[in-house]
Amino acid sequence: MNKKGYYGPYGGAYLPEILISTFEELTTAFEKAKADPEFWKTYEQLMQTYSCRPTPLTPAENLTAHLGGARIYIKREDLNHTGAHKANNVMGQGLLVKRLGKKRVIAETGAGQHGVATATMAAKFGFDCTIYMGEKDVDRQRPNVFWMKRLGAKVIPVKEGTRVLKDAINEAFRDWVSHMDDTHYVLGTACGPHPFPEMVSYFQSIIGTEAREQILQTEGQLPDRIFACVGGGSNAMGIFSGFFDDPVELVGVEAGGKGLQSGQHAARLCSDDASPGIAQGYKTWFLQNDEGQMRGTHSIAAGLDYVGVSPILADLHEKKRVRFEAATDEAVLEAMELTMKKEGLIPALESAHAFARAFEEAPKMTASDIIIINQSGRGDKDIFTIADAFDDPEWKSFIRDTAERYHA
Ligand SMILES: *Cc1c(COP(=O)(O)O)cnc(C)c1O
Repeated sequence: MNKKGYYGPYGGAYLPEILISTFEELTTAFEKAKADPEFWKTYEQLMQTYSCRPTPLTPAENLTAHLGGARIYIKREDLNHTGAHKANNVMGQGLLVKRLGKKRVIAETGAGQHGVATATMAAKFGFDCTIYMGEKDVDRQRPNVFWMKRLGAKVIPVKEGTRVLKDAINEAFRDWVSHMDDTHYVLGTACGPHPFPEMVSYFQSIIGTEAREQILQTEGQLPDRIFACVGGGSNAMGIFSGFFDDPVELVGVEAGGKGLQSGQHAARLCSDDASPGIAQGYKTWFLQNDEGQMRGTHSIAAGLDYVGVSPILADLHEKKRVRFEAATDEAVLEAMELTMKKEGLIPALESAHAFARAFEEAPKMTASDIIIINQSGRGDKDIFTIADAFDDPEWKSFIRDTAERYHA
């Protein structure tokens, strides 16, 4: 990265004049925190006592035997508090907010996972908390909205535009512009204007640091390949960053949706439907048409359904340090089912993208090869989607009966 937060041609901070001093304040606070060894110690301690760190590296012996190739390990980010790697980011930013002396946090959320994580952090630190969420998403993600409110957050349904994630992001920026003095915007992934891509990746690097130590301790050697799913790119940046200086192949798996030819996917770095552009304050590859109009996206995993991608990953893609692949909804469901049956693990639909691609490649490798799959989160939250996808008749009647009980 250069001074202004560029990674090759990507990144930067394209900001309205009024936000520039706030971003400078944030960048300075982050730089200071990073230079202070006590800060990382405090962060590690917080994650140990609040969020189950270090998370285990689980040998997947049954999957390894079943697939018959590389030895498979799974990094268990699903065991974090609130069920995903998102805790790493929000707790880190929470500590930074304390240093900034601010009392209020805001965040955008699509599927609601980042909203729940942020509301959790705000409760723990005693911050006032407002979550912006597209009105459509509020309707679709009721359980997460319920938890955010129980945790004490204000949830504001955004009625602008197409009433989804990107509209929530715009609204959160609008709030920030009028409350810069006491408010911090907790951005949810390794995207957005500098310093967010770097800062979020920094907190998530705890995944890769642990994974590297763990595999060296158990196997006495580095892994050959690492697989991580890529939405905005924060869990991938987290595990990859432990291995950038090693001869380890890094594979980012995007949402292939209904196939790369279908137009219904969210693959920015491995499809023909994306190109470089500037939006939401930074430069990266966006799913857009020739006129720069953002395309609609689709994925069975709500957390991967985003038009942009981390500028750091866009650069690593161009430099060929990270290989990008896509996994279709169908392959994801198959991988999920196999993982549940063979290992008793329930990966989130997002994480299952990494599993799907790993299962395709592992059999072509040998028993002396090692792969690590990053299980970014747990799948409990996906019960509605998965029950639908498997067309579970008993689940349907349960939902019908519950609805009738409320009508009575
Ligand atoms: C939010 C989420 C993702 C996608 O975000 P990244 O920033 O790409 O990591 C992936 N997995 C899970 C479980 C999530 O909740």
